Amino acid sequence: MGSIFTSRGCSFDCNFCAIWEFYDHKTRFLSAKAIADRMESMEQDMIFLLDDNFLSRTDRLWALADELESRGIKKHWMSQGRSDFAAKNPELMHRLASVGMAGLLSGYESNAQDALEHLRKRGNVEANVEASRILKEPGIISTGIFMVRPEFEVADFHELYEYIKGLGIEIPMVTVQTPLPGTELWKARKDHLLTQDFRLFDLVHPVVPTRLPRDQFYAEFVKWKAVIDHSVRRWFTPRQMMKRPDLYRKLLPNLPKMIRRRIQYHPVHFNPESYLRDEAGIIPRDAQLAPGQPSVLDLTQEVAAK
Ligand code: SF4
Repeated sequence: MGSIFTSRGCSFDCNFCAIWEFYDHKTRFLSAKAIADRMESMEQDMIFLLDDNFLSRTDRLWALADELESRGIKKHWMSQGRSDFAAKNPELMHRLASVGMAGLLSGYESNAQDALEHLRKRGNVEANVEASRILKEPGIISTGIFMVRPEFEVADFHELYEYIKGLGIEIPMVTVQTPLPGTELWKARKDHLLTQDFRLFDLVHPVVPTRLPRDQFYAEFVKWKAVIDHSVRRWFTPRQMMKRPDLYRKLLPNLPKMIRRRIQYHPVHFNPESYLRDEAGIIPRDAQLAPGQPSVLDLTQEVAAK
């Protein structure tokens, strides 16, 4: 698979993301013609557009679709973009699928509106539901990223996972909310971290105290295996494949490799002991929020004040 950037930066300001700060809140774009030039000159047939937020500027995307069509470029490509954009622009998503858009990776983050506000995502739960429906229609494979938070109790994990199953996203990914360096979360909370060992800032280890005991937190976290199993089963179905036969003809030869990877990877990735082993000697096993103590990542007050 080849890869190119067609834009740099993002006009949103989610508090867990450093992209907008890194690019000083400015976004630069390649024109539709320049993107088509690059895609045409690449030898690869599958291309990842590495943009942090490809789905912005509808005029550029409509022009890109025209450019790819008029030049007869028949490659498949995928990118990252916001679910609320997809929800607001169904016709455009169909048009992009018709000129090769195969997949979209979006941060859906949460099943709760207050959590989206807490993250300053500026999206909403209804738009997430609508986006997953709209992307499915033309057969765009949706990868949705969700976040569990350190203050999660057992019921919160359960509700999030049931919500994801209901969305019907093809490839859900679940991460742990992490204050990454360069983000507002980091700046506000760096003095409260359990560690600054960056090996654990990998989005699957809570680096602040959790509400549940850590072994129980991980035991709940790894239950997202059931979610991904549920989603993948609905992905490679004859109905989905009929929507994009040309795309699935390219994907199916890779299926044995994907299955082999799952077999090798899942026993580690979905084993709570793996996570506890990673953090042994770095984070104390008993690092836990006291009853009633708010999570140190809770920026609700600051967010509300903006
Ligand atoms: S998470 Fe996505 S939408 Fe939010 S600031 Fe980062 S790139 Fe932009």
